[in-house]
Amino acid sequence: MSLEQFNSICIIWAIIGIATFILLQFVTAPYGRHIKKGWGPEISNKLGWILMELPSFAIILYFYLNFSQSSYAQFLSIFWLIHYFNRTFIFPFRIRTKGKKMPLTIVFSAIFFNFINAGLNGYFLAHFENYSELAFENWTFYLGLTIFVLSFITNQISDNILINLRKPNEVGYKIPNGFLFKYISCPNHLSEMFQWTGFAIMAWNLPATCFLIWTVANLLPRALKHHKWYQEYFDDYPKNRKAIIPKIW
Ligand code: NDP
Repeated sequence: MSLEQFNSICIIWAIIGIATFILLQFVTAPYGRHIKKGWGPEISNKLGWILMELPSFAIILYFYLNFSQSSYAQFLSIFWLIHYFNRTFIFPFRIRTKGKKMPLTIVFSAIFFNFINAGLNGYFLAHFENYSELAFENWTFYLGLTIFVLSFITNQISDNILINLRKPNEVGYKIPNGFLFKYISCPNHLSEMFQWTGFAIMAWNLPATCFLIWTVANLLPRALKHHKWYQEYFDDYPKNRKAIIPKIW
């Protein structure tokens, strides 16, 4: 495949991502608190998470192990793998979602989304990257790395607070407090969007930008719907708390 053909695929994929963002204004992805009957067969929520996230980890690992990459491309692969090691092999075993299910429709659509995104990023890092050693001195490296690391830490802290709201066998919902929850309802989703912004700045290529578009397409509507859900579900939900941008939105 030529780079021109590869770039055309990325652009089409980005356009589909934008169309999905528009679609998700009208349809709420039915998992977690938004789960609904009528989306077909369901499987265990934890198993669903493992299956959904596994392609992202396995595909980047495949390209990392089987192709020669510059040290900068290896560095990008390792950051991706750290994130997806947690999301595939740690996060699903930590969440307290006893007895909870997830529709296979969601699992398969997420596998497809992760397969294409990881495939494009892995293929680029194996076949088209031409990062020089000087890439580590570029402003894109410093800015992207700072955003990625700070957002990764914020994402971990936010996920931890949410997971620990429930005791091991509890199933209900509580109002999260502390850290950025003081200001916004979904710091986990906000930080994940920033994390992939940092990655796209570090990588400075089309497939990483596509993945950012897809992450925002999924998480921005989800965060706004979570915020609305909190306001409707809890009478005493803090009035001054916003969805993702303190004091504004
Ligand atoms: P949620 O905030 O919906 O849930 C995270 C976990 O915490 C779930 O186990 C949930 O339980 C529990 N939880 C959340 N809020 C409460 C509460 N108020 N009381 C009790 N328990 C609560 O996050 P998502 O499931 O949407 O996402 C999980 C992670 O995956 C996030 O960090 C997100 O950024 C990331 N993600 C990334 C995507 C991408 O495109 N890159 C796509 C989707 C997610 P329950 O499941 O029962 O609601």
